[in-house]
Amino acid sequence: MKESPVLIALDGPVSSGKSSLADAAAKQLGILHLDTGAMYRAVGLAALRLEIDPADEQAVINMLNAGQAQVEVRFNQGKQQTLLNGQAVGHAIRSQEAGSAASSVSRYAQVRRNLVLIQQQLSKHQSMIVDGRDIGTVVLPHAKVKIFICASPEVRAQRRYQQLKSQGSEVSYESVLRELEHRDFQDTQRNHDPLRQAEDAVVLDTSKLNFKQSVDAIVRIANEAYEKTR
Ligand code: C5P
Repeated sequence: MKESPVLIALDGPVSSGKSSLADAAAKQLGILHLDTGAMYRAVGLAALRLEIDPADEQAVINMLNAGQAQVEVRFNQGKQQTLLNGQAVGHAIRSQEAGSAASSVSRYAQVRRNLVLIQQQLSKHQSMIVDGRDIGTVVLPHAKVKIFICASPEVRAQRRYQQLKSQGSEVSYESVLRELEHRDFQDTQRNHDPLRQAEDAVVLDTSKLNFKQSVDAIVRIANEAYEKTR
């Protein structure tokens, strides 16, 4: 009998380190990592490129209906490639602007429906850690392992600030904290699939853990959950 894929839902707020942690944990577990934020960022980028205001829902919906924001994900030697209208958008989606645009367009039901369907298709036959905001609640409600990553806004802002500074950016800690609190508000208060912890998720507070300790904790939680069902 064909074994069902190993699925790990990893949710958490902005700058909680989800994506890097998911990447490292997926490598240790020998499975894929699907970064769903990249897909929302690609839709946000599509709007920016067409000079559409991401806060204008109707304009964003028109863009989708015109087929101008086609998102695809491929795995190339285990690494995710996110494509927008057939072109890889690896770096372009990582800017602050693309992140803010993603946060706006991710409020719209039609955007979410389209991307959730793709995410569910991708995880049907492949073992993966899927990271996002609504994975344990909407995308993979039946996942055997659900982890909700959290850390205080101050700790997350400090990590993000250090990262931006090391990239040569001249932002202040206060502005990073303000932007992060705004994104938290948008993600938790939106009408469709807001960020919230699934009832059966294990909460992992990384405020006092370093990167390796956090990865080890994810791998341990995943292994324990799968051991239990053997
Ligand atoms: O995780 P990342 O910061 O790359 O995500 C960008 C934005 O996409 C988030 O601020 C969030 O609003 C949205 N998002 C979402 N649902 C997901 C993943 C990301 O709404 N599953």
